[in-house]
Amino acid sequence: MTVGIIGGTGIYEIVEMGSVLEKKVIQTPFGTSPEMIIFNLHGKEVVFMSRHAEGHAYPPHMVNYQANIWALKNMGVECIVATNAVGSMYQSIKPGDLVVPHDFLDFTRLRKNTFYDDRTVHVDVTEPYCPLLREVLNSSGKVVTEGVYVCTEGPRFETGAEVQMYRKLGGTVVGMTGLPEAVLARELEICYASICMVSNYAASISPAKLTIDEVFDEVEKKREVLIEIISNSIIKIPESFKCQCHCALDGAEVKSGQESEDL
Ligand SMILES: [Zn+2]
Repeated sequence: MTVGIIGGTGIYEIVEMGSVLEKKVIQTPFGTSPEMIIFNLHGKEVVFMSRHAEGHAYPPHMVNYQANIWALKNMGVECIVATNAVGSMYQSIKPGDLVVPHDFLDFTRLRKNTFYDDRTVHVDVTEPYCPLLREVLNSSGKVVTEGVYVCTEGPRFETGAEVQMYRKLGGTVVGMTGLPEAVLARELEICYASICMVSNYAASISPAKLTIDEVFDEVEKKREVLIEIISNSIIKIPESFKCQCHCALDGAEVKSGQESEDL
């Protein structure tokens, strides 16, 4: 089982816990991948990818999510643990807490959100995050074991009114990088789960104006805890397991000749 890690801000050090085998950049039909670091950790082959490329080169709305997921699939990755920085929409979930979402609300607008523009594929996302992988993350350290991830387009932060709306709709945390990544992984039949680090309270929950320094300060403090949980989860991921994510395309495609107008 090759495991992929998509790192948001600040978890590159996990690579230093293992032994690096190779660094690779590949061409995908969607563009060049970021550099992938293939390393061995706890006897497993792990591929680390920095979502924003080196030096935070791409802001969330400009990340090439298609190239990223395609490249990991191409490397033989069968399950992905992603990290995302989020704002909390509840006082009870504090900066520094880690949340493993079980569902999402997608408010992105301008992103390429599917691999299937040339055929009609409707993947099931009743459980958009892999339940098996979530279980592994939830048992690997102290985390909030469920929550609804709200993804906004960015790059600006949310308004107070938007945050109040997201809360009314059932959102728990809000970020800019979780989608379409999770769906693209499902479309390529890769197990995918996310561990979100709360870096701040979202607007109108927070007493003060948000600054990017606040985000990076909080991430810096909890980085080691997050890395430890991911490392523990690598140990727990079974060498091979059967999961519904690995057959996500079964029955998802509208074949030629089938009526699709009513979908
Ligand atoms: Zn799965």
